[in-house]
Amino acid sequence: MGLKIGILALQGDYHKHGQAVTKLGYEPVFVKDNQTLNQCDKLIIPGGESTTFLYLIDKLELRPALLEFGREKAIMGTCAGLITLAAEVKQSPYKTLGLIDIKVYRNAYGRQIDSFVDTVELYFNDTPISFEGVFIRAPKIESCAHGIKKLGFHKNDTVVAANENILVTTFHPELTDDLRVHQYFIEKIGL
Ligand code: GLN
Repeated sequence: MGLKIGILALQGDYHKHGQAVTKLGYEPVFVKDNQTLNQCDKLIIPGGESTTFLYLIDKLELRPALLEFGREKAIMGTCAGLITLAAEVKQSPYKTLGLIDIKVYRNAYGRQIDSFVDTVELYFNDTPISFEGVFIRAPKIESCAHGIKKLGFHKNDTVVAANENILVTTFHPELTDDLRVHQYFIEKIGL
């Protein structure tokens, strides 16, 4: 298909996303500058530490290009990537990108030791699917603005949300062998 899938590679587990993209038959491109970003068709912002991402995004002057990319093309954010993309974040010392209108709590489940794995239900089409959700110092989506689609749930919490071209997950789909979240993002979001 020849799509180039950018993966923001400033910090965090970008390498694992690269493996998922490769397994699906697409070309991963590790992005550290504006020029590389502009060669990509879609972008993934991985898990890691959102404060580090946001600090480096401004230090490396990536913010305007990321905002433009997010207005025109599809972006998926996982965990810290979700925080980076959100409109409003409790306990974020840095200004986020605001590309998806959700309110987020950082570290909502507690500290690193409170990380866990549990089944989540995803509603990508009419038939819900079960997926192994790896939650590592994960955020919670506190609320979604009108028009934001809620596509995945863990207990009563929304763990996957999307607008037309931005898809976010509070867990880490790249840490399982199940490629269905990446596939959904690459093949269905923002076309
Ligand atoms: N707690 C981290 C943050 O606030 C996110 C953790 C993760 O990406 N696994 O950025």
